[in-house]
Amino acid sequence: MNEKDNEFIKYIKENYYLGDYGVVHEKEIPIFGEQFGLDDKKVKQELKRIDCIIFKSGSKINAKNVEWDKLKDIKLGKGQRIPKYVQGKKIETAAGKRIWSRIREELLREHNMSCQICGFNTDKPGDLHAHEIWEYDENNFVLILKEIQLICTRCHGCQHPENAAMLSIKNDEKKGILRVIPKSHVLEMYLMRVNQWNLDTFKQYQKKFSDEKCELMRAEVLNARSSDPAAVKKRELNNANWRYNIEGKIPFHDEVIQILREKDLYFD
Ligand SMILES: [Zn+2]
Ligand SMILES: [Zn+2]
Repeated sequence: MNEKDNEFIKYIKENYYLGDYGVVHEKEIPIFGEQFGLDDKKVKQELKRIDCIIFKSGSKINAKNVEWDKLKDIKLGKGQRIPKYVQGKKIETAAGKRIWSRIREELLREHNMSCQICGFNTDKPGDLHAHEIWEYDENNFVLILKEIQLICTRCHGCQHPENAAMLSIKNDEKKGILRVIPKSHVLEMYLMRVNQWNLDTFKQYQKKFSDEKCELMRAEVLNARSSDPAAVKKRELNNANWRYNIEGKIPFHDEVIQILREKDLYFD
C-alpha cells in the first residue's frame, strides 16, 4: 500500500466512520478518486478492503442479506411525523425558558456531554439537543411526557425528519463533506452507521417505515374527507385545550409540575 492509499483510508475513517462501521455514497467514488489521484476501481478496492459499505439507491432488496436480528431492537430509527394537534407543544413553551435551560444543563451534566444514542461526545453544548418523548391521551387531551433524552443534532435530525434534518446537513456542508449526495441519503447513511446496518437491512427498514407512513397518511386523508365520527374527533383534537402530564423521570420533575399547575396546564 502506498502513501496515497494510506491518506485516502485515513480520510474515509475520519469522515465516514462511526466506530468501526463506515458507509460512503456511490456518487462519491469519482470524487474521492479525483481528490486522492486514484482511479475508481482502486477506490472501490480500498473501500472493500476496510469493509466500508457503498450506499446505492434504487436496487431491490436481497432478502438473503437482510440481518433480521438487527431490525428487532433498533438503536436509532426515523421518527414519523407527529400529529398536527401536538405540533409546537413542548415543555420549553409550556413551562418557560428558564426551567427548560436548567433541565438542559442538568442533562448535559448527567450524560457527560454525550449523545445517549450514538455516544458522540463534545465540548460544545449546542451540539446536543434535549429531545422530548411523548405519548398522547386523546380522550382527555393530555400530552404525557415519558422522557427527555440528550442526543446529538444528527440523531435528532433522524427523529424529526421534517424539520431538524436540515440542521445536521448544514454541518456537513460546512465541513465540505456533502457535495453530490441527495440530502435524504445523508441521514439515511448516518442511520446505517449508528445501527451498523448493511444496505439490504437498511432497505428493509426503509420499506417498513414507508409502509407505516403511507398508512398514517391514508388514515389522515380519509378522516379529513369523511363526515364520520373520526373526522369529528380529529377536529376536536385540533381545537382542544391540551394539558400536560409528566410520567417519566426528568430533571426538576416537581418544579416543572408546579409551574404547569400554576398555569392550569397540568392534568392529574
Ligand atoms: Zn447521536
Ligand atoms: Zn426532538
